[in-house]
Amino acid sequence: MRLSRYFLPILKETPKEAEIVSHRLMLRAGMMRQQAAGIYSWLPLGLKVLRKIEGIVREEQNRAGALEMLMPTVQPADLWIESGRYDDYGKEMLRIRDRHDRSMLYGPTNEEMITEIFRSYVRSFRDLPLNLYHIQWKFRDEVRPRFGVMRGREFFMKDAYSFDLDMESARRAYHRMFVAYLRTFARLGMQAIPMKADSGPIGGDMSHEFIVLASTGESGVFCHKDLLDMPVPGEDVDFDSDLSPIVDAWTSLYAATDEKHDEAAFAAVPEDRRIAARGIEVGHIFYFGTKYSDPMNAKVTTADGQNVPVHMGSYGIGVSRLVGAIIEASHDDNGIIWPASVAPFDAAVVNLKQGDDATDAMCERLYGEMRNAGFDALYDDTDQRAGAKFATMDLIGVPWQVVVGPKGLASGEVELKNRATGERVSLTPEAAMNRLE
Ligand code: ATP
Ligand code: MG
Ligand code: MG
Ligand code: MG
Repeated sequence: MRLSRYFLPILKETPKEAEIVSHRLMLRAGMMRQQAAGIYSWLPLGLKVLRKIEGIVREEQNRAGALEMLMPTVQPADLWIESGRYDDYGKEMLRIRDRHDRSMLYGPTNEEMITEIFRSYVRSFRDLPLNLYHIQWKFRDEVRPRFGVMRGREFFMKDAYSFDLDMESARRAYHRMFVAYLRTFARLGMQAIPMKADSGPIGGDMSHEFIVLASTGESGVFCHKDLLDMPVPGEDVDFDSDLSPIVDAWTSLYAATDEKHDEAAFAAVPEDRRIAARGIEVGHIFYFGTKYSDPMNAKVTTADGQNVPVHMGSYGIGVSRLVGAIIEASHDDNGIIWPASVAPFDAAVVNLKQGDDATDAMCERLYGEMRNAGFDALYDDTDQRAGAKFATMDLIGVPWQVVVGPKGLASGEVELKNRATGERVSLTPEAAMNRLE
């Protein structure tokens, strides 16, 4: 992408309305624009990051055996009346009437709709286990939308739903998502810790929130420090195998959100290993048994001919919230430091003297080579002064920056800058290309 043809509305001033750093940086970097409280347009740079996160979430869901589909954002109220949640959901639900005066709503989540789909097609234990997911916009009319995309009203969520014949099989489904989540957040460059979470009237031990520690987080959390160094399963993990040893290892150390916090159990953690902090909920996995299949009559026949309600779980990831959460976890005074996996661009060429023949030619060459090598490359071919160009690259967090100017070129060199470490080295253009990852 040539910056001269891109749409990157960088703000010089720090927006006053933004209380936390990720919100400030997303506005300054021209990633998104607020259209109403908690409702945002995603500008090109922001959308690129959102799509990269979505892609990683999708790959890991697929790897774990979940099947992608797409449900609509607008739902009929009938389904929610059937499940009994239409009244319970309260003011967070955006209720809509269509021209025929039918009650509709903008979906805050999809348990009812997926249960309706399931019961329409699946009748037999032979079709289980099944896990269906989609990545779709949700709407919750939050009392206090704030912190930019972190607590929006319209937000982008991955939600998966598992269907199993019994509790034991549902536990295996839960474990698959547990491991998929560990992998997903690690690939996003985040340390997300699974913490025991409220499981409502269902009870049991199958509700975990995946929490990223951050002082600006809205949840109070408590955990064992060793969880920060726990190894995450590699991509060779076999989702058909028994995953309970992995889940047991992760859940054997203390970790709970304030709702499930147990002072006595936490006191048993060695004092120097105790973390009491704030955290951001980036994902939530939850087994809820027959909570929806019972009232909505989603039943399957067992091997011995009985008709039983299917056991379900749901598994959410806040895809748009993650954009903010990643920035909270990874930035400095100059701007965003993207983990390579989600950076909007992999590498950039910075032309220090636009219009100088040799400099222009070298920039064009490097920009072409980067693209040929498969990098998502940005070329700053504008006539801004050098300082402004450096500031922009650091603000938007391009991981590798190749700076080209007439002075360096006179001795056959360009400068390679690593955004994360700040390291700058002068080297030949060939060597610079070889250093790109
Ligand atoms: P929170 O406690 O932050 O209100 P929740 O528990 O209500 O979240 P879930 O129903 O568990 O949310 O939804 C799954 C995921 O969707 C959450 O873990 C979070 O990452 C994301 N999410 C929920 N509400 C919002 C929101 N208002 N804006 C952005 N992301 C959200
Ligand atoms: Mg909520
Ligand atoms: Mg929550
Ligand atoms: Mg939750």
